[in-house]
Amino acid sequence: MSDKLNLDDLKKIIEKIAATIEKNSSYLSELDSLIGDGDHGATISRGFREVKGKIKENLPKDISSLLKTTGFTLISSMGGASGPIFGSIFIAMGKTAAGKDKIDLNDLRDMFSDALDKVMQLGGAVPGDKTLVDSLNPLVDSLRDSSAKGLSLNEAAYLAEASALKGAEATKEMVAKKGRSKYLGERSLGHQDAGATTMYLIMKSINDSIQKEGI
Ligand code: ADP
Ligand code: MG
Repeated sequence: MSDKLNLDDLKKIIEKIAATIEKNSSYLSELDSLIGDGDHGATISRGFREVKGKIKENLPKDISSLLKTTGFTLISSMGGASGPIFGSIFIAMGKTAAGKDKIDLNDLRDMFSDALDKVMQLGGAVPGDKTLVDSLNPLVDSLRDSSAKGLSLNEAAYLAEASALKGAEATKEMVAKKGRSKYLGERSLGHQDAGATTMYLIMKSINDSIQKEGI
């Protein structure tokens, strides 16, 4: 992959996300079982399996439609609270990528930033509420910082993954204020949020794809 991602790169990235989520399905359900209802891994894996099937059958014609198709497929196949939340991330990215046949670091920053705004608007969570916002928010900050420093896409993806992981791990120290785990109050302390971990795995898959192809 070069310093810009094209439609084929995005397709590979989405396939990589699907494979990574599938591999971590039990781990994600285990995290959700400690402070939620234990279905997160199964739900998100089902969503990405559907996405994989859909784009294999018929690859959307451009980057924007590929991302929107991913989002709408997640919503329709996952359901529950997290379907619309994860779906909206990809739909927001698809809207921001409209008309682009290549994605550079600034585009990626704008796509993630708009996705964060959308998720916060839709689910009402703010940083510190112990949700996926807590890994997505530092991820966006990291992309902004890398872009301001003029780093390459390769370097920026690497740093964004590290920031998302740190954010996901920091949820252990948070008391849940949104989602099912909020009913546990203080008892949610000490456990890592499942959705924040999935968000990290999504960024890890993007970084792995970019590094693997070499820039
Ligand atoms: P459900 O809660 O319907 O069982 P999942 O188990 O698939 O859905 O997903 C749970 C994850 O969804 C949580 O770990 C959290 O990260 C995320 N989540 C829940 N509510 C919100 C919200 N209002 N805003 C952002 N993320 C949320
Ligand atoms: Mg759940």
